[in-house]
Amino acid sequence: DPRVEARGLSKRYDTPNGTVRALEDVSFEVADGEFVCVIGPSGSGKTTLFRLIAGLEEPSEGAVYLGGDRVTDPGPDMGVVFQEYHLFPWRTVAGNVRFGLEHTDASDAERRDRVQRMIDLVGLTGFEDSYPTELSGGMKQRVAIARALAVDPDLLLLDEPFGAVDAQTKEMLQRELLDIWSETGKTALFITHDVAEAVTLADRVLVLGSDPGHLQDVIRIDLDRP
Ligand code: ADP
Ligand code: ADP
Repeated sequence: DPRVEARGLSKRYDTPNGTVRALEDVSFEVADGEFVCVIGPSGSGKTTLFRLIAGLEEPSEGAVYLGGDRVTDPGPDMGVVFQEYHLFPWRTVAGNVRFGLEHTDASDAERRDRVQRMIDLVGLTGFEDSYPTELSGGMKQRVAIARALAVDPDLLLLDEPFGAVDAQTKEMLQRELLDIWSETGKTALFITHDVAEAVTLADRVLVLGSDPGHLQDVIRIDLDRP
């Protein structure tokens, strides 16, 4: 089985002004260990696709499979990173990273070790006891990445994760993410409207095209990493 498969995904929203077709018959596969970016202009359905893959919303038609299993709700086999961080403000860095491990049968020592390794991996050693409000945007997103990776998910799913940081921080985070990706071998699906970002990061880019307001095909562009 491919690591991720979207098969015939469609999503429609019924609104007072009629039906909005946010995604129309989208299919693609992501192989184990690939880094794939999905790009598309505003309104092309990127966030909708993200929500369907993450199991945050039900498709109108079609399905998403993770390692052959149909995704029906958010689960620990996926590490999700949002543009707006979504950190728990009342938890420290370590507390945020620990979150997904709290309902596993890992021992306290294993948990502590895992949390520390993830914090070290994203370069936040020394900030274990800081609270999100004490951190810069770039650091907050590093915490979110560490939290997502802590549960050793089958897929790292990121929705415009660097959309809220300045250009210089964005470049640094991109380099760090690529390092983490080569170090962990994690399959990554990264959604962005930024073509340059997609080309910098991805093995393969999928393009969502929009045709007056709704979505058509997914075009694949295969890139050779420099
Ligand atoms: P993108 O992330 O590429 O900007 P979205 O997935 O947010 O695109 O939106 C795709 C289309 O679906 C847009 O036309 C948007 O207005 C519409 N849409 C998204 N979410 C909803 C919703 N909850 N209700 C109605 N329309 C929606
Ligand atoms: P931004 O505020 O643009 O998101 P950064 O994430 O690079 O920028 O962090 C801003 C400040 O926080 C920097 O000046 C840096 O000194 C400090 N900082 C960021 N990451 C670390 C780190 N891993 N260790 C020590 N200090 C850091």
